[in-house]
Amino acid sequence: MKITEKLARSVLNKSKVFDYCLNPYTGCSHSCRYCYASLFMPRYSGHTEPWGQFIEAKINAPELLRRQLVKARRGTIWIASVCDAYQPAEAHYLLTRKCLAEIKRFNFPVFIQTKSDLVLRDLDLLHDINEAELGFSIATDNEHIASLFEPGAPPISRRIKALETIKKSGFKTFAFIGPILPQDPNRLVSLLAGLVDKIFIDRLNYPGYFINFYRQHGLEAYASDNYFEQVKRELQAASQKYKFELEIVF
Ligand code: SF4
Repeated sequence: MKITEKLARSVLNKSKVFDYCLNPYTGCSHSCRYCYASLFMPRYSGHTEPWGQFIEAKINAPELLRRQLVKARRGTIWIASVCDAYQPAEAHYLLTRKCLAEIKRFNFPVFIQTKSDLVLRDLDLLHDINEAELGFSIATDNEHIASLFEPGAPPISRRIKALETIKKSGFKTFAFIGPILPQDPNRLVSLLAGLVDKIFIDRLNYPGYFINFYRQHGLEAYASDNYFEQVKRELQAASQKYKFELEIVF
């Protein structure tokens, strides 16, 4: 793993999904095999290492964010869009935490999406941000599949346990089931029962880029339109049963 430090020129950027996105790191050691950022971030950042094997820590992110927030119109900040802001390096650098302290000062809403229970460390700060929505990306209920596709991320069981704590702490919570990986949709939704207010569902984007990985593991049938549609229907039915708000983003 190559970790470098850099001075970023901007950390609060416009987003098509929310008003802003904030990425305290370039690169992501969660190393997901389906990561769309892996398709463009290595070239964009000039790295030749495989995806998941490099990170740049934007060590000026908190000061830069403060300067940008002074001038920004109030809007929701998505943390993060092309990295996981709670990947292991964050335990050392605390860049996400320091950015949250700035966000708290300016009182912007945040939407935090992660795969790591390191987010629990920052609940104290998040409590003081008026509009904070927290959620986990959980693409399958199957730990073996998760470890295959997301080799650097914490297991599903830890994400579920963290959701329990976050929900009990009174936050608005969500789960992002995307991309749909091989799974038992009913079991997955039952694991989330009572822990999230809303579920988002997405399919695998750009399957052509990732199909070789599926093939190597004999899983190509799970990267098909048929499979995504079948799981979507089952997740819809299960969400009605458990009374989740559901948003399908494909
Ligand atoms: S956690 Fe997100 S950004 Fe990081 S590798 Fe996985 S999909 Fe990509």
